[in-house]
Amino acid sequence: MYDAIVIGAGPAGLTAGIYLARGGAKTLIIEKESIGGQIASSPLVENYPGFKSVSGSELVDTFYEQVVDLGVDIEIGEVKSIENGEIKKVFVDNAVYETKTVIIATGVKHRKLNLEKEEEFIGSGIHFCATCDGPFYKNKVVAVVGGANSAVINAIYLSSLCDKVYLIYRGKDLRCENKLKEKVSKLQNVKILLNSNVTQYLGVDKLERIVVKDLICEKEIQVNGLFLSIGMDPETSIKLNLNKTDNEYYDSVDTLTNLPGIFVAGDCRNKNVRQVTTAVSDGTVAAINALNYLQN
Ligand SMILES: Cc1cc2nc3c(=O)[nH]c(=O)nc-3n(C[C@H](O)[C@H](O)[C@H](O)COP(=O)(O)OP(=O)(O)OC[C@H]3O[C@@H](n4cnc5c(N)ncnc54)[C@H](O)[C@@H]3O)c2cc1C
Repeated sequence: MYDAIVIGAGPAGLTAGIYLARGGAKTLIIEKESIGGQIASSPLVENYPGFKSVSGSELVDTFYEQVVDLGVDIEIGEVKSIENGEIKKVFVDNAVYETKTVIIATGVKHRKLNLEKEEEFIGSGIHFCATCDGPFYKNKVVAVVGGANSAVINAIYLSSLCDKVYLIYRGKDLRCENKLKEKVSKLQNVKILLNSNVTQYLGVDKLERIVVKDLICEKEIQVNGLFLSIGMDPETSIKLNLNKTDNEYYDSVDTLTNLPGIFVAGDCRNKNVRQVTTAVSDGTVAAINALNYLQN
């Protein structure tokens, strides 16, 4: 039996782990993919205090080391549901863990275009993380879909590896910072397609071509890979096995939900600013709330 189970090993979950362990709580963190969450895929972080310039993976390595040194258990698995009660049951793939408190720190999930063949091609031509998967497309042709900072940063990064990069955005002008707009506009091998939407994925077993529709016509473009950078939504899919809409529990104020002993931290919470600093802040507050709950 654990005192606390934290779901998600991003900055919020890892920070919660540090505070819980230091507060004397027997703690388990469960992560479905890889340690570190979203920030682990960022090549450069320059706004986290204490580190002038650091890669996301180096930053989370320091969090992870601290968590492990404090004796927090970490398991890889996807939490599917939580059964509430004085003792809570956390259902993970084929295992069930018991705990007195739970902190949900599940972050966000990537938006998709929801076109036919999208699910089939994810990992076979369609990707979300340019730093992770961009190197597979060295000297090839790729497309980036999106027009905000993350899409433009991805296009700039991919232009250093790939022969050609299409940056496809549905709006009439990119909506990134001016500096990024200037930089991407000067790159010879980046073609910016505005007022344009990808309407079809084509290929056998993997993505080979896309259909792009602009205000005038529809055309097929040959691409080896495509990176979706069209935003993210809070990851709120864990079922709380109650008769209410699950989503309302993510509408928490100050990480508290109206379920005793269940707390919510980080990007999965409904909030305006989603950054590492706000995630670690939430992880801190949720852990202290959980420790207070354990003492009462
Ligand atoms: C490319 C990129 C660059 C960024 N750059 C910056 C930056 O420079 N500065 C900055 O401050 N912020 C940046 N951010 C934002 C920052 O990464 C996030 O705000 C922060 O990671 C949120 O932390 P979190 O712990 O709330 O969520 P996440 O980092 O999303 O972590 C949540 C974790 O929960 C896991 N999880 C989800 N569901 C389950 C489940 N059912 N069972 C088990 N595990 C689950 C996920 O796999 C994930 O590892 C960037 C984000 C991206 C994508």
